Amino acid sequence: MESQNTSNKLPTPYLGEPYLLTPGPLTTSYEVKKAMLKDWGSWDGDFREMTKALRIQLLALIGPEANRYDCVPIQGPGSYAVEAMLGSFVPKDGKVLVLANGAYGQRAAATLDYLGREKIVLDKGDYLPPRGTEVAAILAEDPDITHVMAIHCETSSGILNPIGEIADATRAAGRKLLIDSMSAFGAIPLHPAELGCAAFVSSANKCIEGVPGFSFVIAETSELKAARGNSHSLSLDVEAQWRVMNETGQWRFTPPTHIVAAFMKALADHATEGSVQGRGTRYAQNRDVMVAGMRALGFETLLDEQWLSPIIVTFFCPADPAFEFEAFYEAMKAQGFIIYPGKLTVVDSFRIGCIGQMDIHVMERMLAATKETLAQMGVQDASPSEAALKERHVLIS
Ligand SMILES: *Cc1c(COP(=O)(O)O)cnc(C)c1O
Repeated sequence: MESQNTSNKLPTPYLGEPYLLTPGPLTTSYEVKKAMLKDWGSWDGDFREMTKALRIQLLALIGPEANRYDCVPIQGPGSYAVEAMLGSFVPKDGKVLVLANGAYGQRAAATLDYLGREKIVLDKGDYLPPRGTEVAAILAEDPDITHVMAIHCETSSGILNPIGEIADATRAAGRKLLIDSMSAFGAIPLHPAELGCAAFVSSANKCIEGVPGFSFVIAETSELKAARGNSHSLSLDVEAQWRVMNETGQWRFTPPTHIVAAFMKALADHATEGSVQGRGTRYAQNRDVMVAGMRALGFETLLDEQWLSPIIVTFFCPADPAFEFEAFYEAMKAQGFIIYPGKLTVVDSFRIGCIGQMDIHVMERMLAATKETLAQMGVQDASPSEAALKERHVLIS
């Protein structure tokens, strides 16, 4: 298996491991993995210093007026942070408008059901973007709505949702904005103060390129203070985690020490690469090379150009009867590339991620592997079915 990175810019992730062309866990550097080879006492001053630095460095990524916000790490994967955010900032008598266009919007809505918080869902199906005008109309009609929950990059299609116009509509109506920026934060600028965003979440194993195991909430300090007593959950109470962390420097329950150590190395590398802008530029180059190469092979993207994120891209499966996703997946894996199945409900698709320790040279080799695989399978034509193209038309028009 050949999966070494031949580029000069990025170190080899790990000899012989396939690249993860997935939206997290993703391919991390050898140095990030190596940072986990040490044990830390959770109450010890060295680890408390690390937690402090983690919070400060994450806040430094949010742009203007960062001093009005604070960062609260939460143990567990990203969905825990989404649940913690919704349970902590939406009061028990609050009501949330969830903007859904894929699996993560649906998950936020399901979370609110568990929490017993009132909600309504603007469901745009698999991939259509929720627009500012739609949000404004719903808020105007329903004064009970206190919060709007938006997904920044909806990873199930890869669409980059129009967060600016959603924020404008929410602010104009005097409601509060919560954002799931899990797969975007760190590579796509997100300035909560400019958006008037009350709180947002992301996690260790996405664009910062750490390993999975914790997530974090970044919230206005005034919102954190006001959240006292809201949460349904002891372990997912953001206000309690924040207060205790500020008082003691410690996480309330066993922290993922090794994962935090790896994340500090990932953050240092993120800064070296040019922070959000540098990281976003590399991912956008990955996307551009990958999409152009896939189109040259006959593949079509689900989304029109303007909605394609530099995070992950959905392609239609070829209509050619010789194409079979399972076989395609296994052949790509054998050549060192793990791709991602699709999540559309209507037509067959698959996804290719642009994030992680990969550059355009890796993308070029992935394209060569794709071409080779299609030839092996006897696929003459990678273009999608008529039905798939109709789906595409719905979005563009
Ligand atoms: C990855 C991701 C999540 C969280 O997923 P976990 O598996 O819980 O880490 C939530 N929202 C979006 C948009 C994501 O990409």
